[in-house]
Amino acid sequence: MKTFFNLIQEVQKPGLCHRCGGCVTFCTAINYGALEIDDDGKPKYGDPEKCIECGLCYAVCPEINELEEEVKRQANWSAPTGRILDATVARTTDRIVYERATDGGVVTSLLLYLIDRGKIDGAITAKQIGPFQRKPFLCTKKDEILESAGFFFDTVHGMKRFSEYYITYSTEELPSMMKKGLHRVAFVGTPCQINAVRRMQALGIVPSDDIVLCLGLFCSGNFVFNDKAKKKIADVAGFKWDDVKKINIKESIIIHLKNGEKKTVPVEMFDSLKRYACNYCMDYSSEFADISFGGIGAVEGWTSVLTRTPLGRTIIADAKSADILEIFDYHIKPDFASYSLDKIREASSQKRTASRNNRRKLLSRSVEVIG
Ligand SMILES: Cc1cc2nc3c(=O)[nH]c(=O)nc-3n(C[C@H](O)[C@H](O)[C@H](O)COP(=O)(O)OP(=O)(O)OC[C@H]3O[C@@H](n4cnc5c(N)ncnc54)[C@H](O)[C@@H]3O)c2cc1C
Ligand code: SF4
Ligand code: SF4
Ligand code: SF4
Repeated sequence: MKTFFNLIQEVQKPGLCHRCGGCVTFCTAINYGALEIDDDGKPKYGDPEKCIECGLCYAVCPEINELEEEVKRQANWSAPTGRILDATVARTTDRIVYERATDGGVVTSLLLYLIDRGKIDGAITAKQIGPFQRKPFLCTKKDEILESAGFFFDTVHGMKRFSEYYITYSTEELPSMMKKGLHRVAFVGTPCQINAVRRMQALGIVPSDDIVLCLGLFCSGNFVFNDKAKKKIADVAGFKWDDVKKINIKESIIIHLKNGEKKTVPVEMFDSLKRYACNYCMDYSSEFADISFGGIGAVEGWTSVLTRTPLGRTIIADAKSADILEIFDYHIKPDFASYSLDKIREASSQKRTASRNNRRKLLSRSVEVIG
């Protein structure tokens, strides 16, 4: 049976660990507690003595192919960018959400709508706790969802956080957690995180059985900022990080300053800051989510939305008829939806090609080392 030991050899050592947290999430939720996440978001053995060699951390890892075909089958995945039932461009009708959101505030609005109507009991999101710090957030109230609107670089281990709640739920605090009733939780995450959740669901293991909806963000990469890199970007683009109001990532990175000015920085400028494993990642558009969201292909202040499952389609349709969402006006741009889809497909294809090339290079380097 392969275990976390093998993940260290096969995934971590070659630098392929996405830090999605999938392995730690399961081990924590089931109360084995052998694994933990270090300060850099990297999984490691916390207490190896607790490992019972169940092998499930290995199976759920998105870098391991064991469950790939099953996950694709369950998602009705098809090439090149997964199942797509509908593509559109939308934004929230709520001004408060709009002001706080990354793009069109669609993700936050849908979560608010679902919790308001009692369709979900909570949502796993990310919350900013400093200019470059974020933490996973399990929201159970509308103001918490609103608080977590916006964009944060780096991976947040929301599922790991949920696992900690889950443990509490499964043992001493069962009655109070039962009262909280967190059995219908929406999960917001990057493609690698959604993939890990889907693998857990394919195996039917905790805590993924309580995740009822996966809202996936598009992702060209995640970045690790150090002071030197931050200074370099600010110097070249001509701004101060203290003056930054928000950041959008589309074809390029758009930095909005508090004084209303905008600075556009090519994504390539952030390449050296990209987390190493992101160079090997194939999924741009959260191909296994119920609904996927991004800024690319949409004009500023709007979100490109890909509906991928019947559940996702129902949620978008309900939100539209409840006037929670506004759809882009086709009088302004009749081909807005196909334009958005083309841009998403183009970015997905570029990411996949780059990843394949990088994997080829990695493989040839490994062969050289072995030889
Ligand atoms: C690391 C990263 C890279 C991205 N790269 C691209 C890209 O290349 N191209 C593109 O078109 N779009 C990209 N996006 C998606 C885009 O930034 C927006 O999140 C998306 O358009 C939804 O906008 P919105 O206004 O509808 O969402 P909002 O209403 O602002 O809601 C966003 C939700 O995402 C959650 N969230 C924010 N950051 C994280 C995180 N790091 N991990 C988990 N959850 C998080 C928030 O808590 C919130 O619930 C990226 C997002 C992230 C987090
Ligand atoms: S107990 Fe299972 S999930 Fe935890 S580290 Fe060991 S093999 Fe992995
Ligand atoms: S499951 Fe995720 S965090 Fe764990 S080893 Fe695999 S990629 Fe890394
Ligand atoms: S590029 Fe995005 S989805 Fe891929 S590993 Fe990096 S953070 Fe995860």
